[in-house]
Amino acid sequence: MIERESLLTNQPLIIAGPCAIESREQILDIGRQVNESVVHVLRTQLWKPRTKPTSFQGVGEKGLPWIEEVKEETGLPVACEVMAEEHVDATRNIVDVLWVGSRNMQNYSLLNKIAEDNRPVILKRGMIATVEECMGAAEYIGKDRIIMCERGIRTGADAMRFTLDLNGALTLKHDYKMPVIIDPSHPAGRSDMVEPLALAGIAAGLDGIVVEVHNNPAEALSDANQQITPEQFHQLTEKIKRVYSAIAK
Ligand code: PEP
Ligand code: MN
Repeated sequence: MIERESLLTNQPLIIAGPCAIESREQILDIGRQVNESVVHVLRTQLWKPRTKPTSFQGVGEKGLPWIEEVKEETGLPVACEVMAEEHVDATRNIVDVLWVGSRNMQNYSLLNKIAEDNRPVILKRGMIATVEECMGAAEYIGKDRIIMCERGIRTGADAMRFTLDLNGALTLKHDYKMPVIIDPSHPAGRSDMVEPLALAGIAAGLDGIVVEVHNNPAEALSDANQQITPEQFHQLTEKIKRVYSAIAK
């Protein structure tokens, strides 16, 4: 079992992988490629909350053996979003880090189910949630298991998909003493803005990033516009090192 504290070292936590697992070959290829850069946890999403029921919904439980294979091959721990209570049981002994998506941040029966588990949890901010509401959700599970994730909120600013709320993230970190990582992919909504948003989060002194990386973004079955390539991910990790050392005390 992985402890939350082992993910929170004195280096930024880097979590990377596709928006969704699409096939065995895809996750193995992406896992191998991101593992050539600095990465601490692989994103391995099996279930996808999609706006429309006709969109790709994820491969579901069928992908669990692929996750076991990519873990074995890369030696990396994995994180996976759970959308329903039964997913918590289905992922036990395979998925190291649970993850609550933005749309489920206030799904209290799911949060109560996760509270019975003991794995670390990435808790993504609801897209119109206040900082207080985020903390309420964290308390359902148990604050000492949570890594908060700022993934952008809906505001009047419509230049990109969502507004990355660094203010909220800094409040969670400094006033509520929570570890906070940034998801630069969903607020950007476009691959060319992922790097500057990620670096802004690191420059602000936050605890890491979770970024979408795909081996063929143009053909991705979800979030094709915002996924970056393994090469772009590599450049990003190099820049993160430089920004982090520039601000390190
Ligand atoms: C995701 O991480 O792919 C995702 C759906 O994010 P969010 O829950 O923040 O919308
Ligand atoms: Mn996505």
